[in-house]
Parts: sequence; structure tokens; C-alpha cells
Amino acid sequence: MKRALPSLLLFPALIVAACIVAGAWLFGTRHARAELQDQAQRQLQLIAPDLQSVLQKFETLPFVLGFQPDLIQALAHPDDPQAIARLNSTLHTIQQQAKVGAIYVMDRDGLTLGASNWDQPLGFVGKNFSYRPYFHAALHGQAGRFYGIGTSTSEAGYFIAQPVYRDGSARGAVAGVVAVKISLAEFERTWRSSADPIVLADRSDVIFLSNRPDWIYRSLRPLAPATVQELARTQQYLDKPIAPLPASVLSPIAPVTQPVGELGWQLMLFPGQERVSRAGLQWALAAMLLLACAAVSLWAMHQRRRRLEEAQASRAALQRAALQLEDRIAERTDQLRQTNASLEARYAKLQETEQLLRSTQNELIQAGKLAMLGQMAAGVTHELNQPLAAIRAFADNARTFLERGMTAQATSNLGHIADASARMGAIISQLKGFARKDESVATVDLAACVRAACFLLQSEFRRLGVTLEVTADEGCCKVTGDAVRIEQVLINLLRNALDAVETGAPDAPRHVRVALAREGEHAHALNPAHDHTNALVSITDSGPGIPEQVAAHLFEPFFTTKPSGKGLGLGLAISSSIVQAMNGQLTARNLPEGGARFELRLPLLIEGEL
Ligand code: ADP
Repeated sequence: MKRALPSLLLFPALIVAACIVAGAWLFGTRHARAELQDQAQRQLQLIAPDLQSVLQKFETLPFVLGFQPDLIQALAHPDDPQAIARLNSTLHTIQQQAKVGAIYVMDRDGLTLGASNWDQPLGFVGKNFSYRPYFHAALHGQAGRFYGIGTSTSEAGYFIAQPVYRDGSARGAVAGVVAVKISLAEFERTWRSSADPIVLADRSDVIFLSNRPDWIYRSLRPLAPATVQELARTQQYLDKPIAPLPASVLSPIAPVTQPVGELGWQLMLFPGQERVSRAGLQWALAAMLLLACAAVSLWAMHQRRRRLEEAQASRAALQRAALQLEDRIAERTDQLRQTNASLEARYAKLQETEQLLRSTQNELIQAGKLAMLGQMAAGVTHELNQPLAAIRAFADNARTFLERGMTAQATSNLGHIADASARMGAIISQLKGFARKDESVATVDLAACVRAACFLLQSEFRRLGVTLEVTADEGCCKVTGDAVRIEQVLINLLRNALDAVETGAPDAPRHVRVALAREGEHAHALNPAHDHTNALVSITDSGPGIPEQVAAHLFEPFFTTKPSGKGLGLGLAISSSIVQAMNGQLTARNLPEGGARFELRLPLLIEGEL
């Protein structure tokens, strides 16, 4: 809509612009015309007084001449050659002095008696000028004025005539007429300097004086027939045909006119049309230039406004985009917050589950331990039975010794009883410690653990006739962990080894070897990056080894090959999880010479740690 507006406005704008240019042209021409007319007026006001003064200067000359005795004498005695000669001489002298064209004297019939040019070939003497209007006017006692072409000289001039009175007084009878002819050719020469046509026209609008030679003896308007007849009668312009000037040569601008003299003459100046046209053109061009400037500045303003609008629009778009972005960010933040909350919830759930798992695991371990205690019960009972039987025997003997007064022997028996009960106490405290439920992490000497485990099972080994060889240097391998749990693992492994040896062939060797050693020291020397070593407990039995199909499921819970009531299949599964919790490793393999070896690896306590 906004874009279409300028093109919609273009047509009316062009019309307005055309009107403005036309107006400027009109104004320019009018202004120039008025100025030209003013100028012309001023020019005329300079020219006209000149002309007027020349006409007036000679106005009184014929009047004064009328009182000249030579003129009166010649008119009184026209036949006296001396009087005529005096007249001619006087007229010639005055003509020379007054610097006029000619002076001549006519009798009452219009016949020229004497003239200043009497001695020239085209002299006026003898010529009759009774047809001239100025002669008639003077004859009737009035001043006669006339402009016309001389019939004898063919030179145009201004004629002024006055009567000459017979007795030299203005109240007497008119004896004749004296006339002065003045040439106005001088003015034509002066006017030539003007670029514009200047004309002097008579009352019939016939041009008789002009700075344009071809305009002379042409009329400004067609002549009336009466005028044509009058001109022919007075021979004013001889027999020259007076044709009107064609309209094309006349400027369309009205001429400036000024009346001059007594004969109704008009002095006219025709201001040149070219200057008016030029002024109009200049004004029109100036208007066009101004309009062009205005159009350019309007266009520039329009462009500027459009740029501003565009900038505003892009700013708004940017703002919108920023808002959208903010919305998106808010939305995403919200989503993230929700995700975070759900993650937190899931994490809490996970922790809860982990807690549950841990407690379940703890309970499982405890259950495993209790199961193991149950399995060990027979052995332990046997172990306790022996000292108990010994105590009873020693006590019976001590009573007999006391009855016989053999106090020394009785005292020795009491000492044996004390020893045996102390041994029983040691066994019971070991069992009590093993049955402890809570985990307690501390520095553990593995050798002590190995010994404790072996101690709890030694009677069982003895009963079944299986040799138990133990190699464990005290203090050689210290680890971080729970001693009871490590013992639990070791007891489990020892029990499995014992069971395996039991199931072996009757003639096969019956032994189990437990060895404790440090591992990884050489590897450490070779590879400096290996910055810690393990404690390795290996339990090797002389049993039948682990069958291939069992090996794959060895550490799975509830996997057992033992008859029900003897094994639950939880021992190795629980042992493995205990070892993993201590960053250790439990592995099993068969030996080439027969039998299975279980290896328990636990990270050694680094010097300075704990
Ligand atoms: P359980 O002793 O109750 O069967 P375990 O997880 O301790 O459960 O042992 C799983 C199985 O691994 C045993 O049933 C047995 O088949 C096998 N096994 C364990 N120790 C040995 C071993 N030293 N030699 C041969 N087989 C073994």
C-alpha cells in the first residue's frame, strides 16, 4: 500500500508540476513585458523631449521672419528684381545661421517668390505650394505645420509657415506666407543605436520616421479611403503607396507611445518579443530546476523514511526473535528442570534401591555365614567335645586323687582342666567373632585371617583325614577391609576344597595347600606405571578339579553340584561379591597335574596409607 502510493501520486504531481512551470513562464513573460514597457517608457521619455525641443525651437522663426522688411518689400514689389535678390540673400543668410533645411516666401497664390536655395538646381523659386495645407493655414493668419516629402527636392521635412502682413503689423492684410523646412533625418540616425523599433507616425498612423528604413511610409493599420484621397491631394508623401505593415513583423507586445508636436504625432517604441520569450523561458527553467530539487529532496526524504521503517521493522523482527528465543530458552529450562527433577527422583530411588540392595546383600552375606556355621557345627561340636571329655576325665581323676589325699596330682589335673576350658573359650570366642553381623573396615593382616579360618576348620580336616598345609608369614601382607568377611571367603574356599578332596578317588592324595604371598613386585620393576601390588592367597586341592560345564556357572548364585542339605550354591557368589567390594579378584582354574586352584587377590596396603 505504502509502496503503491508514490506511483499513484505521480500523475497528479506531474500535472501540478506542469501548471507550476506554465505559471512561471506566464509570470516571467508578464514580468519581462512590464519591465520592457517600463524601459521603453523611460527610453521614450529621453527621446521625446529632444524631438519636441527641435520642433519648438523653430516654431517662432517664421513668425519673426514675417516682420522682416526685405520680405515685406519683396511681397509688395514682386516684379522688382533687386527686392527679390535682397530677399533671396537674406533668406540664405538666415537659413545658414539657423541651420534649417530651407526658408522660402510665397505670395497669396502660393507662388514662391524667393527662397534660401534660390541658386540651386532644385531651388523652390517659381514653384507653387498652394496645395499644401500649411500654406492655407498661414494665409488665414494661423501657424501652418506640416510634414511631408518635398516635391522639388524629394526630401522629407517638417514645414512651419506663418503669414507675412502687408504693413508689417499683425493686424494688417496678409501679403504672403513665409515657410521654414526642417529636416528630421538626424533623429533617425540617433535612434539606430536602439535594438527595438522606434517610429514616429502621423495622426493617420502612417510611419514617416523610424530606425527601421523598411518601415518608413508604411501604415500601422489599413488606411481609410478618405485618408488616401487626402494624402493624394496634399502630396504629403508624394505618390508613394502606403501599405500597412504585416502583423508578423510587429511585436505582439503593445508599443509604448508618447504624443509629440502639434500634429497629433505618436512616438512609438516596440519592445522586442525575444527578450520576453527569453525571460519566460528562464523563469520556466528556474521553476523546473526548483521542482527537480524539490522532487529530489522529496525522493530522498521518502527513501530515508523507508530506510527508517525498514530499520524499525528489522529491529522489531530482532526483538520478536529475541523474545521467541527467550521463550524457547525458558521452555527448555523448564524441560531441563523437569528432567533434572525426575533424574533427582530417580537418583533418590536408585540410592534407595542401592541401600536396599546393600542391606539385602549384607543380610545375604550374614545368611551365608550362618549357613556356613551350621555346616561347621559338627566339626565345632567335635572340637568342643574333646576338651569337654578331657575336663570330665581330669575332674573324675582329681576327685579320686583328693579322696586318696594325692593333692599334687589333683592340682596338676585342675591345671589340665583350666587349659582345656581355655581352649574351649578360644574356640567359642572365634565363633562369636565370626557370627558378628556388622562390617568393620580396618587394616587386616591376611596371615591372621588365614590362620583363623584354618583354625575353625582344622578339626574337620583332621576328621576326614585331609592334610592342610599352610604357608603364611605373619605381617607380610596387609590389606584394608573387614577381617571377618575375608575369613568368611577363606572358610568357604577351604570348605569347597575339602568337599572336592572328599569326592575324589579313595586312593588319590588327600591334601589342601594354602599359601599367602605378595604379587606384582616384579611386574612393578618392569613396568613403573604399575604402582601397586596385590596380596595373593592361593588354595590348591588334590580333588578332581572343576568340570567344564560347572566352570561357566561357578560364581552364579544357587548353582551347586552338591546334594541338597549339603550345599546352597551361594558360597562362591557371596565370596565373589565380598572380594569385589574390597577391589579384589576371585578366580579359579584347574591345574595340569590335577586338582583345582582358587586364587584370591586383594590390593596390598600402600606404605603410609591408613
Ligand atoms: P556349594 O558349595 O554350596 O555347592 P559353592 O558356590 O561354594 O556352593 O560351590 C559351587 C560349586 O562349585 C560346587 O557345587 C562345586 O561343584 C564347585 N566347586 C567349588 N569348589 C570346587 C573345587 N575346589 N573343586 C571342584 N569343584 C568345586
